[in-house]
Amino acid sequence: MKFLDPKRPLETCQEHSCDNCNVKKEIHCHFNSNQAKKFLLSVVPAMLVGLIGIYMYNPLLILIWLLICFLYFGFIEIRVMCSHCPHYAETETKTLKCWANYGSPKLWKYRPGPMSTLEKIVFILGGLLIAVYPILLIILSQNYLILVVYLILIVVCFYYMRTYMCNHCINFACPANRVDKKVRDNFFEHNPQIRDSWKK
Ligand code: SF4
Ligand code: SF4
Repeated sequence: MKFLDPKRPLETCQEHSCDNCNVKKEIHCHFNSNQAKKFLLSVVPAMLVGLIGIYMYNPLLILIWLLICFLYFGFIEIRVMCSHCPHYAETETKTLKCWANYGSPKLWKYRPGPMSTLEKIVFILGGLLIAVYPILLIILSQNYLILVVYLILIVVCFYYMRTYMCNHCINFACPANRVDKKVRDNFFEHNPQIRDSWKK
């Protein structure tokens, strides 16, 4: 996996070096393969158990779930959420090189500033649809052991993201972002164009 050069500031950033940056340790402007692997380790087990649960009800319905995941993570989420992310503004690559949506195409234009209410609704409902789809089918097939394992893995995945990702994420537009105001303000000082787009 290839990632942005960690020594080169983001294109939105006005600094010439990241070396002595006061937010460098607080938020992740650059990503690496370890972060991507940890994210995959938190998500893939839940997805595999979800797939097994759907398969036990009706193998054909796996295709619908995979199609929803592909459309959501490949296009819809990228438009409503990631297109607001400073990482998205990088012109060096045409696909995302971050910890979560690595490889998704950047088809939309970069739109700094907050997400609209409609974008937040689409973002949340899309995520819920993907998480709940297997639950409904597992209940219909009455495989309650698989249901419990799936729910536990979803909670673990959610906990991991909330604890180790959302509080270091540079996309302040995301409704799940947990970076505190002081760190945000410091980041805005380095990225005045982004700050201005939040003031509009
Ligand atoms: S805010 Fe700028 S200088 Fe600081 S870590 Fe991010 S890209 Fe580097
Ligand atoms: S919002 Fe998250 S997943 Fe989307 S581009 Fe930014 S870091 Fe990647």
